[in-house]
Amino acid sequence: MNSTVCPKCGNETPKLFQGRCKDCFLENFTLAEIAPVLHAKICASCGARNIRNKWINYGNLEDIVIQTAEDALFVHEIAEDIEIYVNPRELTPHLYRVHIEVDAMLLDEIFHQELDTEIRIVRESCDMCSRISGGYFEAILQIRATNRIPAEEEMKECINIANDVMARMRSKGDRLAFITHSLDIKEGADLYIGSSNVCRHICKEIVSRVGGSFNESESLQGRKDGKDIYRITFSLRLPEFMPHDIIEHKGRVIEVRKFGKNVTGVDVETGARFIGTSDELEGATLIAKRKDLQKTMLVAIENNDLLVLDPDTYETVTIKKPVMFTAEAGTEIPVIKTEKGLLAVADKSK
Ligand SMILES: [Zn+2]
Ligand SMILES: [Zn+2]
Repeated sequence: MNSTVCPKCGNETPKLFQGRCKDCFLENFTLAEIAPVLHAKICASCGARNIRNKWINYGNLEDIVIQTAEDALFVHEIAEDIEIYVNPRELTPHLYRVHIEVDAMLLDEIFHQELDTEIRIVRESCDMCSRISGGYFEAILQIRATNRIPAEEEMKECINIANDVMARMRSKGDRLAFITHSLDIKEGADLYIGSSNVCRHICKEIVSRVGGSFNESESLQGRKDGKDIYRITFSLRLPEFMPHDIIEHKGRVIEVRKFGKNVTGVDVETGARFIGTSDELEGATLIAKRKDLQKTMLVAIENNDLLVLDPDTYETVTIKKPVMFTAEAGTEIPVIKTEKGLLAVADKSK
């Protein structure tokens, strides 16, 4: 077997490690090292972590403490199969004591080392939170509805969608996905949003979920640090009609099911399905909302006719039974008075 002599101790050794025998090499060897004091910079308001001057959304403070320790831990480059256990202990909200254990394989031996450090928590205000508190915004989202005032539940849905979109974008690292402030007005609401990109995503999501359309317009707001500052206004128009609106268009009475770019509904008179585009329904008018419909007694069903009481005169009126009409005689059904006379409105789910 080939062997050489260790230049340090003079013993024979089959192999040299960085110019020494194994024993001499290990004499001054440190598997892992860490500074005795570390600092973790976090945002006092949102809990983001600052790493190399960048704010990043993180888990809770303990996650940040563990990651700060792992980031600062040096493990010798020739170690293999390294396993690290970090055990943080909160002493005060500003100070953590961290115990670290490192296991690794080195020169075919298992090494174990324990280290301790303390992590001081430095709280500041992150870029996002200082922008929010400073009233920063890049885009204004104006939510309105076409030819009407948006309903309260519609506005709530729009705000929920906006919050969902922003949470998703924040989790992907977008630090401008925030609303600085919002203004409720009679015709809708104005939201002041951190970036136009975020605002555009919100508009797209609202339009795809509740219909309507939006456009953008840019205006110069002034100059700051030698640069022109633009604000972008997004004008979002919710659709003219909502699900369960009963509308009149070119002699037809239609209950809207979905009103987006494409419109689906039911012809109230015949019960037939209606499919069209919002352009085709240009000029349609709202007659009633389903929840406001009068109810009246369905006296009898005779072949393809319904006998109902006129809700105002209590006279018996015969009307054609729409297809898929399932109500039973002796029950109350919603009806609507139109230019075509009294119409029975079929069950919601049909
Ligand atoms: Zn030696
Ligand atoms: Zn923050």
